[in-house]
Amino acid sequence: MGEAKRKMGKTAEFLIDHPWCCLCGGSVRATTVEHAPPRVFFLNRALPTNTHRVPACERCNNGSSQADQVTAFVAMTMAIQKPSHQEYILRLAKGVANNAPEALAMITNGGSTDVPLRVDGQTDLYSRVEVDHELFTNWLNPWAAKQAYALHYLHLGKPIPAGAKVMVQWFTNAHVIEEQSPDELLRQLRSYGELRQGMKSSENEYSYKYQFDPEIGCIILMLHDSSMVMLGIFDPSFPEHEHPKWTMFTTGPERGIHEVEPLP
Ligand SMILES: [Zn+2]
Repeated sequence: MGEAKRKMGKTAEFLIDHPWCCLCGGSVRATTVEHAPPRVFFLNRALPTNTHRVPACERCNNGSSQADQVTAFVAMTMAIQKPSHQEYILRLAKGVANNAPEALAMITNGGSTDVPLRVDGQTDLYSRVEVDHELFTNWLNPWAAKQAYALHYLHLGKPIPAGAKVMVQWFTNAHVIEEQSPDELLRQLRSYGELRQGMKSSENEYSYKYQFDPEIGCIILMLHDSSMVMLGIFDPSFPEHEHPKWTMFTTGPERGIHEVEPLP
């Protein structure tokens, strides 16, 4: 059997057990397999485990490879550089230059400093790199929101329902770091100290901790041990107007994952 045919057979088999797209509420039939985290995140394109596949419809699967690439590249520029990273960074940079040249222009590599941050009761130094706001809006935030939908499905075997909200908060940007510490945010999410360790890849490209309380879930993603994303998953009844500054996403069968318009 050819490689393509074998792959097709595997996908079909997977979709029998996982028939509904987990990225748009669970009512649209899945026709593809998404990887969470995406393959582009790993230095050798080798995924660390077999438990990273989630069902997606055509629409939800399409168009995210650009965000995957841009996010991987941004995370890498903030990581502690090792000689073994050289080739990988070049490959990523080339990909971004080809597929999202406007993003490449926004990534400024200068002016990075270390900032002490208290996470999980432990203070560590995190790299602070100035990143254009638009980079978050167009690529990093939608990418992170998608990870929340995928990881929720991976751990619970059911999608985040349509109408639920997903909060995305990155800790890489100087502005965000000064505004709110992760510890404060965790306390607001009422999940402080109850997080479980999820997957951790061998090169630390990607790791996360999580807690899926039915009312408020929480995932903390670490990318290359340098960028951190906090993801909150809120029941549809959650009053988002109480936190007008949070970046919130939602999903549904019509539009898929999209940012909730900020209230006027
Ligand atoms: Zn979908």
